[in-house]
Amino acid sequence: MATEVKTTCPYCGVGCGVIATVGDDGNVGVKGDPDHPANFGRLCSKGSALAETLDLHDRLLYPEIDGRPVEWDEALDRVAERFSRTIAEYGPDSVAFYVSGQLLTEDYYVANKLMKGFIGSGNIDTNSRLCMSSSVAGHRRAFGADTVPGCYEDLELADLVVLTGSNLAWCHPVLYQRLVAAKAARPQMRVVVIDPRRTMTADIADLHLAIRPDGDVALFNGLFAHLATSRAVDQDYIAAHTSGFAVALSAAGTLDETQLVEATGLARAEIAAFFRLFEATEKVVTCYSQGVNQSVAGTDKVNAIINCHLATGRIGRPGMGPFSLTGQPNAMGGREVGGLANMLAAHMDIEKAGDRDQVRRFWGAPALASKPGLKAVDMFRAVADGRIKAIWIMATNPVVSMPDADAVEAALKACPFVVVSDVLKLTDTTRHAHVLLPSLGWGEKDGTVTNSERRISRQRGFLPSPGEARADWWQLAEVGHRMGFSGAFAYASPSEIFAEHAGLSGFENNGRRDFDIGAHASIDTAGYDALTPFQWPQPRGTESATTRFFADGGFYHPDGRARFIAAASGVADHLSAAFPFTLNTGRVRDHWHTMTRTGKSPRLSAHIGEPFVEIHPRDAMELGLSPADLVVLESPYGAAIVRALITERQARGNLFVPMHWSDQFAAKARIDALVPPITDPVSGQPASKNVAVSARRFSASAYGFAVSVGKPQGLDCTYWALAKAKNGWRLEMAVEQAPEDWVAWCRRIFELPDDIEPIGYSDGLSGNRRLAFFDGDRLLLALYLAPEPVAVARNWAVEQLSISHGDLRLRFALVAGRPGADTPDPGATVCSCFNVGVNQIVAAVRNDCRTVEAVGQTLNAGTNCGSCRAEIRGIVDGCLAAAAE
Ligand code: SF4
Repeated sequence: MATEVKTTCPYCGVGCGVIATVGDDGNVGVKGDPDHPANFGRLCSKGSALAETLDLHDRLLYPEIDGRPVEWDEALDRVAERFSRTIAEYGPDSVAFYVSGQLLTEDYYVANKLMKGFIGSGNIDTNSRLCMSSSVAGHRRAFGADTVPGCYEDLELADLVVLTGSNLAWCHPVLYQRLVAAKAARPQMRVVVIDPRRTMTADIADLHLAIRPDGDVALFNGLFAHLATSRAVDQDYIAAHTSGFAVALSAAGTLDETQLVEATGLARAEIAAFFRLFEATEKVVTCYSQGVNQSVAGTDKVNAIINCHLATGRIGRPGMGPFSLTGQPNAMGGREVGGLANMLAAHMDIEKAGDRDQVRRFWGAPALASKPGLKAVDMFRAVADGRIKAIWIMATNPVVSMPDADAVEAALKACPFVVVSDVLKLTDTTRHAHVLLPSLGWGEKDGTVTNSERRISRQRGFLPSPGEARADWWQLAEVGHRMGFSGAFAYASPSEIFAEHAGLSGFENNGRRDFDIGAHASIDTAGYDALTPFQWPQPRGTESATTRFFADGGFYHPDGRARFIAAASGVADHLSAAFPFTLNTGRVRDHWHTMTRTGKSPRLSAHIGEPFVEIHPRDAMELGLSPADLVVLESPYGAAIVRALITERQARGNLFVPMHWSDQFAAKARIDALVPPITDPVSGQPASKNVAVSARRFSASAYGFAVSVGKPQGLDCTYWALAKAKNGWRLEMAVEQAPEDWVAWCRRIFELPDDIEPIGYSDGLSGNRRLAFFDGDRLLLALYLAPEPVAVARNWAVEQLSISHGDLRLRFALVAGRPGADTPDPGATVCSCFNVGVNQIVAAVRNDCRTVEAVGQTLNAGTNCGSCRAEIRGIVDGCLAAAAE
């Protein structure tokens, strides 16, 4: 009989509930959990495709030392011995942990306890530093604690939702769908999107403000000053619950109207319209994400936003408040356990002696760290210059995701001892590990995660542990035990860790700290297994409820008052003649982080199959770029080669490149290699969205596109990008110097038998060439080559991997690269759930489907997760506009 398990999606910070069904045959199905308060049954394209990411292909299944499989005991002894020896020789600050918002709270808790409590160093930081540390810093400055005041329901209850630095449609799709539904139910609701790009999120915007990169502080400072002069501030709230209003207002009002236009890049009328809307609307929620956080002024941006909400008293009441959207599934859980180098467990402060004393006593940890450790960028600098001699990296891929990523890779190469705990055997980071420890993946591990609205949910295992893979908390506890800290790490299950974590949160708390889940301090395994999603705080003796903070003050500074913060409006212009473009990095709809999971799904890879740069048509023209050309991007730190996507959604002078592609999926597309290691001075968060770069056309002698059953090995093209396809792979490529013998090249790269002769043709006039290799009726490889970017019906070509080619006409069509009239090319995938391509949508519009709903009724497109509805609307609108001309 099939079993159903309630768990939580492992991707973004929305934290959707998932029901996983394991059939008698072992097949897994997933659907949204209708009872989960984050998603009420919805899932986005990534969540819907989770079952496609569970195979054991490429999994790390056994511990390894220097590439040699070993028993756990040997691996753990090696880690403990090297860390202990390094600490004995060079002190506790000579070692570090670099962990992740992908860890479960229980893993995170043990990692933090081991490093800060028992090793005695603050050197544990996390990829959440790259995600939301500016929000943490902004919250702590304003509220005295890292508190998210509101909840998701506020987005539905608001009359004005401001989305700044957030491509909600692609990065938090289920929350976006909740907002879309709320706006449809209450059309008077207004949405303002503030983003240099016209992203898919702008599809529902009543006002899109294409702000200059990093112009946000100036805009919200201008708003703050406007609210004050128009007497829209709440004097009673300010007087009763805040301090610092006059100083912050004085700093906010330094720009006159002309300077504000200059700083924001917006028209006077746009600024005025936004200010009027905010002023006139009581129920306002301002949501922000990486466009705010990933900046040299990230913390000031957060505080400039919070200032406006404090000034109007619009905080902590239904439909009101500033709202930080976390990117990762458990960035919030990491914050709760103190996984950032400058925090202590349970939202306590490592710089406060009283807090340190409390944690020391609770843990029985005499060596507790007495100062903050190194934040991510500084941590890898210390690895590079030898101050850190042993590092343990867990559940993250810093060689792809850190700024100045090439320098991070060089640092790991030179580091005397690198331990990596991961689910995959080969990533850009695991290739530098001395010790590899196999971890459990989603569907195998047990624990909790906290989403952006402070809701704690269970992730539950429903698959057996593969090979020798073990939970991260277990690995850490075993190393702790071997380092001599046995009693403190004698956990038998994650429920024991969760109970301790809950106990610490309530320990001598009495309302002094925001994070308190003391109600769960006595939870046992049965209770843990039955735990339903709940929002914190939930102190001992209280029931689960929807919670908001600060409607009536009660801030966590010693005097109970919030602080207005004087935020500096200006960000230095760093463009130059050599590096004249502003590069923005971010996510795409159907991929996640460094693609270690989503890269396994053909469905998700079909939406966008290679790295790209969005560029405005005028900029493209000046660079001599045509659609689908390749572009070389360079900064003083590194270079990348990506495909040109020429679009008016992009502002002039600005470029956008996704952050996902690693060396496992592309030749040269680790875009963070171009990002300088420059950080916000308060939060230490890197500025990944405002990078000065140059751009030029990449000149290739030949371009190629291939579909193949086997994964190509040892690709030696200057440009290549690989994506999983149904029953095989799809490959984009370009070479500066064509190989002398393409057939021999195919045999080597695709490992084809010598006795299989290809069919094909070569056109000396056009330079086009086709090669197809068959094993009987089965296609093994089709390669299309041209002196220009290859024009071939790509999704149709991919489908050829799944059909028999016994019919010669099919073989001829394949070599020609053109589907027959009876098998039209669906075009690039738009709807991943129903595999609907752009050409099918265009055909439906021509057949009188004039709305997104009508397209959905005809093709199903957009009727499941809804993540593609904005794209469908764009296609419908484009077709109708073209028809009207
Ligand atoms: S919005 Fe999508 S990626 Fe995010 S938690 Fe929900 S299903 Fe997962």
